[in-house]
Amino acid sequence: MKKTKDIQAFLQTIDFSKFILKRVWHEKAGKKYICIKLFITLVNTIIPLVYSIIPGLIVNELLDGAYSDVLIVYVAILSLSPVLLTFLNNILDSLLYKLRLDLELIFAIQFQKYIMIMDYETIENPDIQIKKDRAQITIDNTIVLIDKYVGFFASIIKIIVIFSIIATLNIGIVALIMILLCINSLLTKKVNQKMHQIGLELSKHDRGLWGIIYMLEQPCYAKEIRLFNLSTLLTGEYGKRMKAKNKLEIRQFKIGRKIGIYGALGNFVQQVLVYSYAISSVLAGKLALGSMTIYIGMISQFSGSIKSLFDGYLNIAKDNYNIQELKDFLNIPCVQYRSGDKTPSFDKDSIIEFRNVSFKYPGSNNYALKDFNLTIRGNEKLCIVGCNGAGKSTFIKLLARLYMVDKGEILLNGTNINEYDYTEYQRLFAPVFQDYVRYYFSLGTNIVLASQFDKDKLDRICQECGLTDLVNKLPKGYDTQVDKFIDEEGFEPSGGEDQRIAIARACYKGGEIYLLDEPTAAIDPMAEYEIYTQFNNMTKNKCAILITHRLSTVQLADKVAVFDNGSVVEYGTHKELYEKGGMYTEMFDKQAQFYRDEKTSES
Ligand code: ADP
Ligand code: MG
Repeated sequence: MKKTKDIQAFLQTIDFSKFILKRVWHEKAGKKYICIKLFITLVNTIIPLVYSIIPGLIVNELLDGAYSDVLIVYVAILSLSPVLLTFLNNILDSLLYKLRLDLELIFAIQFQKYIMIMDYETIENPDIQIKKDRAQITIDNTIVLIDKYVGFFASIIKIIVIFSIIATLNIGIVALIMILLCINSLLTKKVNQKMHQIGLELSKHDRGLWGIIYMLEQPCYAKEIRLFNLSTLLTGEYGKRMKAKNKLEIRQFKIGRKIGIYGALGNFVQQVLVYSYAISSVLAGKLALGSMTIYIGMISQFSGSIKSLFDGYLNIAKDNYNIQELKDFLNIPCVQYRSGDKTPSFDKDSIIEFRNVSFKYPGSNNYALKDFNLTIRGNEKLCIVGCNGAGKSTFIKLLARLYMVDKGEILLNGTNINEYDYTEYQRLFAPVFQDYVRYYFSLGTNIVLASQFDKDKLDRICQECGLTDLVNKLPKGYDTQVDKFIDEEGFEPSGGEDQRIAIARACYKGGEIYLLDEPTAAIDPMAEYEIYTQFNNMTKNKCAILITHRLSTVQLADKVAVFDNGSVVEYGTHKELYEKGGMYTEMFDKQAQFYRDEKTSES
């Protein structure tokens, strides 16, 4: 049972090594790296053997008592080869270093690209974030792994060479050394398993610590940290988590020390055995003095090589857990990205239809949308109103295919949206999400989201979104860094400015369907009215879905849908709904009242 487990682990190690080697070999730089590394490692492995053979040969020559020209050749090899080897190592190491950096960049970008095509639903899951961090370890270590494989291969070659020399002396000694090493390696393997288990726990602690450091670094937390006086809470929590982590690290350290002790004991037994046998053979006249030094040198290298072969294997096998984690991570299905391949088209006659859609967020027991039905036309401006938690943002996220519906279907021109190519489908949208973000780039890049931009178009859009004054006021204009996170001279946008930037971003991208999820909550009603009027002009004949709490904006829309508890409870034009005297009328009147009260109190 145990045996099969070990064999399975061995097969898995081979399988995983192939997986990593294939990934590296697939890259041009990877092929070069593997070949050069293999060559230099073999040279560095075999040369020390020559160093331990030649002195013995010199002794044997000298014991013969006569001068021989061979002595000069031996001395030349011994004195010149280290210099040549140093030169060779120097040249190839810098080449390998460059290739290594190139490869690390290639793998980092591949990984980042993969993360960006993962389903939104997956990425949102905190467990997946931990998996991502774990997978990243192998990505960052890919070249270290290659070095290990090459080192392992070189050890095999070295052992074959040494074995063929020692076997001529005494095969029994070889067998004894092997037994000692096997015992040692089994013990080491157990220790390694424990170390890995602790490593897994440590990475969970790292994530907890990272959460606190993140809160300390982000300016958005800085205000509340001060006003709520969170210093004691945060440092206390940090200390608690750090102490728990340190405890584990000490355990890991202590366990690691054990490996050294096993090694030293094994070495002791082996030295006693080898020297007793070799000395007695010389005394019995069975072995020349020079040959004795060669054999002793070889045996100590043999045990060293067998040990490094075992260690190398265990070291490689130790990474199995991490490689498995990377494989699992790369195997997480990207359902959305790899779904349909139809090309969507959208114009004023297009129709979007939600048909009996029900949806629960992953891990939630409650429906965010339930038996939901709604139709939107291609040139329509639809306004969605409703209380918090009514399902408005969820509706937008489902339409944008950030999640997949549980029941029912969403159709675009009669075709289920999942049948369209994901990237092409998302190209249709110009979104401003409720939790819009700011990018750690310049203001211009924040809007354009590309490194090059069309200045005239950008100027026009900034004008329409009320950003021109801000751009003119900033010392470096569009080139000013947004946020002080990276650049001290960056500027910190106000909530309203942030929202205008997010709206400008959607307008610059453009698309057939504009999605605006309460993008003006932090902008005053007058400015909002201005933005929406401009927005209406910009999106003539386009489809726009606006979620707003400001009922004054609603009057600009063609149709209004009132959401409640995950369904549409009222639908029609502003006039129709207002005259109906239902939920909409109540909401509208309450807000009108609020504005009247505000005006009265102002006057
Ligand atoms: P609205 O935008 O109308 O305020 P949402 O669509 O954001 O409402 O939310 C609808 C329901 O889904 C709410 O009950 C909310 O708590 C829940 N919800 C929203 N986002 C998530 C999420 N990421 N995970 C779990 N539940 C969520
Ligand atoms: Mg919302």
